Amino acid sequence: MQRCLVTGGAGFIGSHLAERLLALGHEVVLLDDLSTGRRANIEHLLGDPRVTFRQGSITDPVLLADVVPGTDVIFHFAAAVGVRLVADQPARTIETNIYPTEALLRLAIYGGQRVFLASTSEVYGKNAKEIWQEGDDLVFGPTTKPRWAYGCSKAIDEFLALAYHQTHGLPVVIGRFFNVIGPRQVGHYGMVVPRFVEQALRGEPLTVYDDGGQVRCFADVREVVEAVIGLMERPDAIGAVFNIGSDQPVSIRELAERVIARTGCEVPIRYVPYAEAYGHDFEDVRRRIPDLGRLRATLGWVPSRKIDEILDEVIAWKRAELSSQ
Ligand code: UDP
Repeated sequence: MQRCLVTGGAGFIGSHLAERLLALGHEVVLLDDLSTGRRANIEHLLGDPRVTFRQGSITDPVLLADVVPGTDVIFHFAAAVGVRLVADQPARTIETNIYPTEALLRLAIYGGQRVFLASTSEVYGKNAKEIWQEGDDLVFGPTTKPRWAYGCSKAIDEFLALAYHQTHGLPVVIGRFFNVIGPRQVGHYGMVVPRFVEQALRGEPLTVYDDGGQVRCFADVREVVEAVIGLMERPDAIGAVFNIGSDQPVSIRELAERVIARTGCEVPIRYVPYAEAYGHDFEDVRRRIPDLGRLRATLGWVPSRKIDEILDEVIAWKRAELSSQ
């Protein structure tokens, strides 16, 4: 049994991770300020004596210095999330994603914790390669377009984590997530799957941005947290960066059609220009497909659940949520 700190523990991925860690017999400390995380995500865990919930911000260094000592492993998931939030609040993105990570990693150097750093496929920026490998170049747009602040801020986190690994022997594993989906994900911050599902269930048109030809790979959150935990158990993962997700591409238009078919809601698709959705400064990434070779070689498996199965679960969860409102 280990004592695991999950920053962002009331968030979408963090709460699923906490659930799985508990099922494996560990203790968890959940740190979350409930800004984008939700108490409802962890309510069912709070009665467990192995769970400690600390409500507060990752940007509070005093709180961090209080929660880190005594833990064995740190899963760092607290971050500014979602394209919409990042576009609307660029200063908050940088402040949440950079300085607190530095503070946390420094504490882990002193405390000897193993650290999982949750990074993102956004670090590849708009690299034109069809399939992205961990060693590929990071290709960001100009600093006048706030979207790139997100990927850049996470890239700084990665640099820092790798530097502390090299200089101080910090045992860190870095995971770059590719479009993780599942129950508990909300659409307020721009994420496409919960938005489409909620729109369909409400009988509204599905808002496909641009021509819907942009491509993503969607992975089940439960498989993703299994991969995270698996990597943290493998000594050869320390000091390395991993793509984590699915490698099965789906266009956003096709995703909309699947959501309509799976919900059985006969709603139209409305094509919305990016400028209307995110403002004039916005630039999207057209293709985002990971090479999972490194993950497969290290874990022996990769996330493989089919999109329709995951959509069915998201739809069932959303239906239940809407009917309880
Ligand atoms: N998207 C869309 N309609 C929406 C929300 C998102 O067409 O209501 C598109 C978005 O432009 C992007 C894709 O869906 O091309 C995935 O968006 P999301 O924000 O979920 O993830 P990311 O852009 O980080 O891959």
